[in-house]
Amino acid sequence: MAQYILRDLDDTLWTRFRRRAGLDGWHLQGIFRQFMEDYAAGRITLSAGAPPRPTMGTWYLTCPNGDQTTRGFTKASAKAWLESGETTMPCEKCGAAVPISPADRATLESWTTTPDPPTR
Ligand SMILES: [Zn+2]
Repeated sequence: MAQYILRDLDDTLWTRFRRRAGLDGWHLQGIFRQFMEDYAAGRITLSAGAPPRPTMGTWYLTCPNGDQTTRGFTKASAKAWLESGETTMPCEKCGAAVPISPADRATLESWTTTPDPPTR
């Protein structure tokens, strides 16, 4: 089965979510599964519209030597990197190869296939 990682969650929101789920007697996997079922079936409507989707991405990398860098990319450059079959990216500070996990590759691939936001 697929596994997904939710990054950059607001700590306060996560705490409120877990507390409410606990009060209602839900385990986290169960509440996510039920939410996805109900949302996919159109049984729940969210209180806000979808936020704009980025056309550019930023990857936060920590190389084996401890350098922390960011790598900006577009969907086109991300697709090119994925198609190259590379499993590492070079550190921009020292040149060391930074391994990219299969999960991160999957996340990047998913993003490259997400439709772009409408142009205004
Ligand atoms: Zn480095």
